[in-house]
Amino acid sequence: DGHDMHAAAATNIQPAGFPIKYTKLFIDGEFVDAISGKTFQSLNPSTGELLATVAEADVADVNKAVKAARKAFEEGPWPRLSGYERGRILHKFADLLEQNEDELAHLETLDNGKPLFNSRYMDVVSGVKYVRMVAGWADKVTGQTFKLDGPYQGISVYEPYGVIGAIIPWNFPILMFIVKVASSLAAGNSIVIKPAEQTPLTALYMAALAKQAGVSDGALNVVPGFGPIAGASIASHMDIDKVGFMGSTHVGRLIMEAAAKSNLKPVSLELGGKSPLVICEDADLDTAVEIANGSLFFNMGQCCTAGSRTFVQESIYEAFVNKAIEKAKKIVIGDPFKVGVEHGPQVDEKQFKKTLDYIESGKAEGARLLTGGHSVGKQGYFIEPTIFTDVKDDMKIATDEIFGPVMSILKFKTLDELIKRANDSKYGLAASILTKDIDVAHKFARSLRVGTVWINCYHVYDQSVPFGGYKMSGFGREHGLASLLSHMQLKSIIYPLKDS
Ligand code: ADP
Repeated sequence: DGHDMHAAAATNIQPAGFPIKYTKLFIDGEFVDAISGKTFQSLNPSTGELLATVAEADVADVNKAVKAARKAFEEGPWPRLSGYERGRILHKFADLLEQNEDELAHLETLDNGKPLFNSRYMDVVSGVKYVRMVAGWADKVTGQTFKLDGPYQGISVYEPYGVIGAIIPWNFPILMFIVKVASSLAAGNSIVIKPAEQTPLTALYMAALAKQAGVSDGALNVVPGFGPIAGASIASHMDIDKVGFMGSTHVGRLIMEAAAKSNLKPVSLELGGKSPLVICEDADLDTAVEIANGSLFFNMGQCCTAGSRTFVQESIYEAFVNKAIEKAKKIVIGDPFKVGVEHGPQVDEKQFKKTLDYIESGKAEGARLLTGGHSVGKQGYFIEPTIFTDVKDDMKIATDEIFGPVMSILKFKTLDELIKRANDSKYGLAASILTKDIDVAHKFARSLRVGTVWINCYHVYDQSVPFGGYKMSGFGREHGLASLLSHMQLKSIIYPLKDS
């Protein structure tokens, strides 16, 4: 198999060239050891070797971080700054992200395994845009005035919640950190955030940059650690006012339960997906193959929005499948630091094994494995881009979120049949249709119970366009003004008017 050749590069991982500077908890503006002194290992997914030993937060550290965040909220200065001043500091943070983009990108690729090109030109660049977007909104959030019956007037004012808790995943560590932190801070909150245990390094690095930019001590706290301990203690904390979670639907449910059982803190959830990509017979075949390939294999399939149900219309099914296989075979696997490499390792052994298990289940349930299906190389967590055809709607590979490079191709005949099947999922994150027929495209767009519909494209995001899920893909919207308002309370103030 041609993939073994490319994979040889994976045995020769380039050192990043930057030392790893930050491995401690960031609480109240300082890098500190865990109270327990405990640490955990962050591994390099390209080699499986130790990358860094990182301080491990547990309940006591989360409590300490929440105390610092509460104090920063009660005593300021952060929430007392004007929106304009907070925006200026966030713009400075964006400048520092830009000035350190190479180091950040290297760190991300070391810790997560994604190709350096993606870390540098997608994740960091989108992160900077996001910070500047919320920084710009910070001084533009306004309430309303009301003239009441009788001699009363009312005004509504937006206020920060107080202390935000955030728990984020490992697939876009820089970007998810920024989405949560920049939105919370722009709105005037303080925040305690737990990066995923697989990828704690860029979060700590960005905490140092935020401090340098002028984010006041205690306004931002970063507590690396494990989900069931540090994460769970954020979700169930009595002094956290809102919790934002991004990750699996299974854990999202635990977060909501913990929030309900503790102080009824509101929750926002960005969860999993099983997004349909629909290729109609009038679509340009080569473009469709490109889009389908990117929709699923981008980020080694580790996207909540991955186009993981590829529906192809009957008359072009064979032609599409042949070209899709050709394309998948050409994907360059290997050392994510090497120029030209498009496909790095899965993030860790758990995800690696889970993906291989799904590949076995696809075979066992009778889908046809037409390319890929194997791990690559002797070290690290590399898996070949894999394509199954003859996938049936009820097979596990068509219903479950795999979060790996496994394309499941299904056949459809008519649009009406397709819309029913595309909607027949517990998830509702995204969908896409490729067609030249504008009526078909818009019928599809309006019929799908999902948060984002792409027409003739896929994975196109913007910091200003609302993003979030329907159904069990979660609720709450990020990006744009919505990201700020979701971190704010709306208060009404009513008072009599003299002599009116
Ligand atoms: P995955 O299985 O893909 O790693 P998770 O949903 O488990 O996705 O992880 C996303 C984030 O949720 C990570 O930061 C993880 O540490 C955290 N997490 C996992 N389990 C829990 C839990 N029981 N309570 C709170 N957070 C958790």
